[in-house]
Amino acid sequence: MARSVLVTGGNRGIGLAIARELAASGDAVAVTYRSGEPPEGLFGVRCDVTSMADVESAFDKVEAEHGPVEVLVSNAGVTKDTLLAMMKEETFTDVIDANLTGAYRVAKRAIRPMMRLKRGRVIFISSVIGLTGQAGQTNYAASKAGLIGFARSMAREYGSRNITVNVVSPGFVATDMTAELDHEAIVANIPLGRQATPEEVARVVRFLAGDDASYITGAVIPVDGGLGMGH
Ligand code: NDP
Repeated sequence: MARSVLVTGGNRGIGLAIARELAASGDAVAVTYRSGEPPEGLFGVRCDVTSMADVESAFDKVEAEHGPVEVLVSNAGVTKDTLLAMMKEETFTDVIDANLTGAYRVAKRAIRPMMRLKRGRVIFISSVIGLTGQAGQTNYAASKAGLIGFARSMAREYGSRNITVNVVSPGFVATDMTAELDHEAIVANIPLGRQATPEEVARVVRFLAGDDASYITGAVIPVDGGLGMGH
């Protein structure tokens, strides 16, 4: 039977590529979207991950359509860049709320049904910035580093239930999020000398969600062309 998969922020960018990759390998994939329309051919549920009520209702709908979520990909994320000296408290807490507390909300909602199933895969999309830091991104880096401690704690709590929890740490990926950045300057620091495509991240997520990754948990897998190597 097709596995029930949920990808947050699966309406565009990396999340959409992950959703399409898993759907192509035979999973029953649902995506969350905040506004606009869900992507064609995928089951979409409206959800803002900053709201627990939204998260609850999204999971209820996915469970009714595809059964309990067996693979959760927590991908939704935002940036609100500014230097610390200028950063208002809400600019910090908004990013933490979406990127880190949002991941807590979906993981929290997913875990009991996974325990009942006696299997599950949870994959968090972090960032190379969570390890290296980045000027102008204290909020974002803190949220992405936080995901690593969160995931590793979860991996310890639920390993005995046959639930693996891993982190994918992309580098510089061609999406709306990076469209405004100075590409030349960033690419100059990437050993592979180019941006990643969203599909290159998606294929690693597919691996972690699949049988070949059955003995991997608590890992942080970089998909960054060497940008963050050494961590
Ligand atoms: P995009 O900006 O293209 O897409 C972000 C996605 O997250 C959208 O689907 C968006 O929904 C969703 N989202 C944002 N906030 C919320 C929220 N509060 N509730 C629900 N959904 C939300 O970004 P990317 O595809 O580039 O990024 C995906 C993930 O990968 C993020 O976590 C990002 O931090 C991470 N990442 C990206 C890198 C890159 O170079 N692009 C590098 C490293 C990590 P909506 O369409 O409704 O806004």
